Amino acid sequence: YFHKCLIINFMSKNPEFVKFDKVDKSYDGKVLVVKDLQLDIAEGEFITMLGPSGSGKTTCLMMLAGFETPTNGQIYLDNKVISDIPPHKRGIGMVFQNYALFPHMTVYENLAFPLRVRKIPKDEADKKVDKALSMVSLQGFEARMPMQLSGGQQQRVAVARSLVFDPQLVLMDEPLGALDKNLRESMQYEIKHIHESIGVTVVYVTHDQTEALTMSNRIAVFNDGKVQQLSSPDELYERPVNSFVAEFIGENNTFAGEVTDISGDKCKVKLNSGTEILANPIVAKSKGEKTTVSLRPERALIDPETKMDNNHKGMIEEVIYHGDHTRLRVDLLGNKDFILKVPNSSNRMDIKEGREINIGWNSIDCRALDPK
Ligand code: ADP
Ligand code: MG
Repeated sequence: YFHKCLIINFMSKNPEFVKFDKVDKSYDGKVLVVKDLQLDIAEGEFITMLGPSGSGKTTCLMMLAGFETPTNGQIYLDNKVISDIPPHKRGIGMVFQNYALFPHMTVYENLAFPLRVRKIPKDEADKKVDKALSMVSLQGFEARMPMQLSGGQQQRVAVARSLVFDPQLVLMDEPLGALDKNLRESMQYEIKHIHESIGVTVVYVTHDQTEALTMSNRIAVFNDGKVQQLSSPDELYERPVNSFVAEFIGENNTFAGEVTDISGDKCKVKLNSGTEILANPIVAKSKGEKTTVSLRPERALIDPETKMDNNHKGMIEEVIYHGDHTRLRVDLLGNKDFILKVPNSSNRMDIKEGREINIGWNSIDCRALDPK
């Protein structure tokens, strides 16, 4: 319901606030590092480009900022071709991991800089600086120099500076990459809450899937210059459309095999171990196709109370205590690294290395994807 509300909300604004239309990018005239990118970003949306290093995320952001030009295709901002809008009229704020503050300027001067460039009168500028600093809880730090601030405070000043001139769009490229884990997590929430309270459109880049799942309305998963899947965080995790996404987002158990039969929303997959299982034909849709079947750890249950259409015996290889749950590594149908998660409240006595257990799961959760 919440997602629907957000989507309706976006749609009432401009659903194509940013538009990448058939965009290719090559730096050397040979290799395409961005391939045929088609992406609409709605006004007010928080969208994340997520993918491994070298997959083309920063290049997309640089083209959107106007620092790089597409080799083919066009980028539109608010229905205008971006290259036709002069830089100072693009209204784009930016935060980068290594985009340091001006070291010789105070916090106040750093924030006032983008306003001075835009010729905002001083009293109005002071109010805007004040507001931006309060957004990141740094009132009272106006006179500090950047080197007198911690890494987290510097990054908050950078966020405030990107927002101080009320941009219509903010681009953030791995802005939290240099921070330690706790600070990174609290900044994720801080940026997310700022986005929710002011409703600015944010295009965020990260290689960290947890960060992407935490912050975004939608995520575009990049690999090798191509968007593999574009969807909401839950959709991405629950319904990955290919083996790359299944592997990249969250934990993933896999079985390799071949489709031997198919009817409606179920298929039979003969695994390399010889056993047949029932799966959900997502990519592999016809007899004889090779497939990698993907199943999330929490979708497999030990001795399930309800009837499930896959039930098999596995051998516990390793038991790892994780506080709120226990992870089991199980040898199941030829996969020696099958992971199961058991809540620690279940108090089962039979969870020990070397014990055999019954494992059940439903074919709908077991997705027959492209072979790895
Ligand atoms: P990501 O941000 O996902 O790590 P990038 O967009 O930085 O990926 O890089 C995509 C590919 O383009 C990589 O192979 C990278 O080496 C190459 N690349 C990036 N910037 C340049 C550049 N200025 N000149 C030449 N090649 C580049
Ligand atoms: Mg990058």
